[in-house]
Amino acid sequence: MTQTITVIRGDGIGPEIMDATLGVLDTMNLGLQYEFADAGLVALEKHGELLPAATLDSIRKNRIALKSPLTTPVGEGFSSINVELRKRFDLYANVRPAKSFPNTKSRFPSGVDLITVRENTEGAYIGEGQQLSEDGETAVLTQKVTRRGSERIVRYAFELARRTGRKKVTVVHKANILKSTSGLFLKTARAVAAEYPDIECNEMIVDNTCMQLVMKPEQFDIIVTTNLFGDIISDLCAGLVGGLGLAPGANIGTDAAIFEAVHGSAPDIAGKGIANPCALLLGAAQMLDHLALPEQATRLRTAIVATLEAKDSLTPDLGGSGTTQSFAKAIAGRL
Ligand code: ATP
Ligand code: MG
Repeated sequence: MTQTITVIRGDGIGPEIMDATLGVLDTMNLGLQYEFADAGLVALEKHGELLPAATLDSIRKNRIALKSPLTTPVGEGFSSINVELRKRFDLYANVRPAKSFPNTKSRFPSGVDLITVRENTEGAYIGEGQQLSEDGETAVLTQKVTRRGSERIVRYAFELARRTGRKKVTVVHKANILKSTSGLFLKTARAVAAEYPDIECNEMIVDNTCMQLVMKPEQFDIIVTTNLFGDIISDLCAGLVGGLGLAPGANIGTDAAIFEAVHGSAPDIAGKGIANPCALLLGAAQMLDHLALPEQATRLRTAIVATLEAKDSLTPDLGGSGTTQSFAKAIAGRL
């Protein structure tokens, strides 16, 4: 197989964790070709724009990108490059696995293995109808949920369950209060769920979901929900399993998919060679799943877990004294 992927090395710790990640992927001999493209601060300095057309063309052509964190400077056209990328490619599914790993600062050292599937294009994030009255006393926000948008995200969640052998999808909503938006989402979800009798489906109100996640996270398998709830719940889940250094995410659309680490560019430790590369590596594992290489994805995850288990060359955020490179080499050595 030869598959070309667009690689965005990004800002801050981005280049360090990307080099480490590509080094690990190289030892796997997957036949991946890398097409490097710039975005973020680096692109602004080199090309005078945050998101050059050549970068967009590269993603459009290859349909798959592996991306490090990007810095969006204030006052440069858009509020977030990441949000802009989601819009440009209609990346409607934000998929964030949360899994307990050994030797991490986790609330639940075992038992958590869930995926949040967040609708990424609608709800409170449409950027319309934001009004503040002239006297500054009243603010209004418009939310929009569509049947089409709800259907495709719920279908994505059920297809993901089937593909990965997961057993249950929990539809998270607030239809008791947000009768129109959350109501339409729930109604649509029920119709889609009926097409998947092999997958258990339950419904849970978002506030209860937060409590249940903290008390009994092992009851969850796949969670599917609207944009704002998904934003909050996926960070809650990252916190359950030990925080940012181990949280990957994918933004998936029909024509393109972008895989990344959830954390930011961490300017406080940039250039020191001590950033934890695991989140991006786990993002790469999600990418391998997406490329229909599930055995290779499992192989990569197994090597990461074994390295954590052995406390071999862990980076300082995990309590070790390793470096980005030594940690990555320890993982590569177990492949
Ligand atoms: P940005 O503005 O790009 O979002 P940020 O300042 O919000 O950056 P984050 O990257 O979100 O920073 O990280 C928050 C904290 O977590 C920082 O102290 C950072 O050093 C730490 N951190 C984030 N990612 C990693 C990583 N991969 N390895 C080690 N520490 C990390
Ligand atoms: Mg941040």
